[in-house]
Amino acid sequence: MTLTADAPTSSAADSLRCRNCGARYPLGPQHACLDCFGPLEIGYDHDALAVLTRSDIEAGPHSIWRYAGLLPVGQDPAGRVTLNPGMTPLVRADRLAEELGMRELWVKDDSANPTHSFKDRVVSVALTAARQLGFTRVACASTGNLANSVAAHAARAGLESVVLIPADLEEAKVVQTAVYGGTLVAVDGSYDDVNRLCSELAETDAFEKTAFVNVNVRPYYAEGSKTLGFEVAEQLGWRLPRQVLVPMASGSMLTKIDKAFGELASLGLVEPAEWRVFGAQSTGCSPISTAFALGRDVVEPVRPTGIAKSLAIGNPADGPYALDAVRRTGGAIADVDDDEVRDGIELLARTTGIFAETAGGVVVATLRKLIAAGALDPAEQTVIYNTGDGLKTLDAVAGRQVPTVRVKPSLRAAREAGLLD
Ligand SMILES: *Cc1c(COP(=O)(O)O)cnc(C)c1O
Ligand SMILES: [Zn+2]
Repeated sequence: MTLTADAPTSSAADSLRCRNCGARYPLGPQHACLDCFGPLEIGYDHDALAVLTRSDIEAGPHSIWRYAGLLPVGQDPAGRVTLNPGMTPLVRADRLAEELGMRELWVKDDSANPTHSFKDRVVSVALTAARQLGFTRVACASTGNLANSVAAHAARAGLESVVLIPADLEEAKVVQTAVYGGTLVAVDGSYDDVNRLCSELAETDAFEKTAFVNVNVRPYYAEGSKTLGFEVAEQLGWRLPRQVLVPMASGSMLTKIDKAFGELASLGLVEPAEWRVFGAQSTGCSPISTAFALGRDVVEPVRPTGIAKSLAIGNPADGPYALDAVRRTGGAIADVDDDEVRDGIELLARTTGIFAETAGGVVVATLRKLIAAGALDPAEQTVIYNTGDGLKTLDAVAGRQVPTVRVKPSLRAAREAGLLD
């Protein structure tokens, strides 16, 4: 990385910090520690953050940008690369709670974002940082939803984009990326192969001026997921939820929801309270869940299989940090197989009116499993995250969901079919 540019100004972010050894670096397009190769994350000037009040936030736009003061990019709306995602519904799910024997259950429905997944949050922050850092081209390796969001954001802002995906992705996710223009590269391999290729491309001269969402601007990208924590707390009346259940691919989102709760508490924006973070994976790709079950700190990479492709990261970069957040808060992690995922999608749909993609099915099925195992307390307030839209993964349930009955357009046919009984 030889590109140098001014770091985004007028934000409370003041450094990049190594999550492994604590070393500090100036803000900029860098993701790994030069000493220990550990991942870098954004550090903030606590005093600069502490000026924020609830009413400042409430007076802000109805999007993630109401929390701009807690994000690592400049405050000028004109400088943003964004589809203005966020402030998605927090739905009280009494009928689902009843089926599961729970007292108070909420679904944070992040399928209600511009490209129908939570990835719009992270991409808005990553690409805004990329532009402020002087990049004119953006790229990413994606399990699908990130591809959709990067291509759409680039289209809105007139940035060049190069999106790399595994060639066997769901058709809806391929179409919903290609339609926005930009270069779409289908790679014969798994997501982990695609990601490795991305890292190699990022080192070449031809890509020197390209911001890779999950490589050189990853610390900025990851911060966008904090808004999933901020919003839930604000929507609950500036209270932290007691238990949250989060789907995991790289594990980044889970760590940032936990970070968000910690920031709100330390800034006095919510009353200090204990929260527990739970994680969900699909059995076809469950390296973090496996490490949790074995009581290990090291996450052993796997080769992903199964229908939950948006979560199919076999070598999860934030796995150890996700394990740490779950263990520190007294949560747990479990995984569910493809049939359970389908059941989860259907259960959520028929009890809440929310049609989730496979990742949402993973979460609902894992919720059931964690309750049965006695790990998650059904009597405590719980928020689960639905991170994507069922229309993107129709094939998962298409064969199981068909019309109840087919009739000729006459009253007689309707009667014969038993519709008047
Ligand atoms: C990417 C993705 C996730 C997981 O994100 P990580 O931060 O990598 O753990 C969860 N749900 C959906 C729908 C996604 O697209
Ligand atoms: Zn380090």
